[in-house]
Amino acid sequence: MDLRYFLINLAGTLLRAFPFPTKTGLIKIGNPGPESPVFLTCNYSLTVERVKKSLKGIDCYLLVANSNGINVWCASTGGHLTNHDVILVLKTTGIENLVSHRRIILPQLAASGIEARVIREKTGWNIIWGPVYARDIKKFLKNGMKKSSEMRQVRFTPTQRIEMAVMWAFPFSVLSGVIFALVWKAMLLPVVLLTWILPFLIFISFPLYMPILSKTKTASFSKYTRIFDFALPTFFIWTFFVFSLAIFTFVNPNFSWATALRWGVLSLIIILIISIDLMGSTPVYKSSLHSDRFFEITLDGEKCKGEGICIEVCPRNCFELNIEKKKAFIPGVERCVRCGACIVQCPFDALYFKNPMGETIPAQIIRTYKLNLMGDRSIKTN
Ligand code: SF4
Ligand code: SF4
Repeated sequence: MDLRYFLINLAGTLLRAFPFPTKTGLIKIGNPGPESPVFLTCNYSLTVERVKKSLKGIDCYLLVANSNGINVWCASTGGHLTNHDVILVLKTTGIENLVSHRRIILPQLAASGIEARVIREKTGWNIIWGPVYARDIKKFLKNGMKKSSEMRQVRFTPTQRIEMAVMWAFPFSVLSGVIFALVWKAMLLPVVLLTWILPFLIFISFPLYMPILSKTKTASFSKYTRIFDFALPTFFIWTFFVFSLAIFTFVNPNFSWATALRWGVLSLIIILIISIDLMGSTPVYKSSLHSDRFFEITLDGEKCKGEGICIEVCPRNCFELNIEKKKAFIPGVERCVRCGACIVQCPFDALYFKNPMGETIPAQIIRTYKLNLMGDRSIKTN
């Protein structure tokens, strides 16, 4: 493997929690001509390297838009990769003079932030939503720029869960290691060990405890009451860890109960920190601590015209189309991760969010306000 690519991947995995910006602009891949495809991605260095690697062997242009060094999905849903960033890179790189067509392929996960209609109106460029993962680009081109349902779907694979665990463990272990080296040396090793063991336990075992995460049953409670709902899975994970620790202490005479107690308290603090839901960065994201979690994707059948853009952009394959009736329906509503992409792209405003209390978030709010770090729609983007 190319050493540079390996090092960027390693740094990107260890420091994934932090933005890693790279240069914006135009990159030529191979020997592109006027008919060559044009791709666009964000300026998160790891993403740019992965996209370049996937495009190797294809004569094309790659536009890198400013996302403040954040990956495509987080940047689009958080208001860091906007219509403005796409228009800017289209207007300033000279791409209009290099190709004879006006088709640009964007990663599908940008659909929660970039409005295809606005880009077309302001620049004349038509957005084609590419696959979720860059590694599927060649298949996508071979398939006449059509995506299979696999190419459209975000999968939370064990490898991705490990990457997320490392994302928490590395910076957190360095920070807590430095603090404990200065103030309480005896606990340095336990802290560093726990900051690696616990994220792996929490992220990798998520499919096991997912069923106990509640979604809607406490929707009418206050935010403070809902903390208990958030605390339930956290307590469950901690109990499991403490139980394992007690068994270890029991069979190992060199490990005292006083040490076990300190490990137990530390582990609770670490688990609580990891469980804080920063824009879905923890798998305990379905806790009802955030009121946004209660909103469910809803279809206004009267407005739907059935041309299926929602199917193209949904990363969880929630939609299907009734071709005879020319209407979409949502059989996979429970898989929805509330990214908002379908609402942003629906040309007839037929989709919106609704919670069990009857409150709604209409399309215009989803288009205008993006999620802040705590998962609330408060960042105004236009
Ligand atoms: S994008 Fe909107 S109008 Fe089109 S099929 Fe989906 S819900 Fe219906
Ligand atoms: S149905 Fe849910 S997951 Fe799918 S695009 Fe809409 S908001 Fe996103």
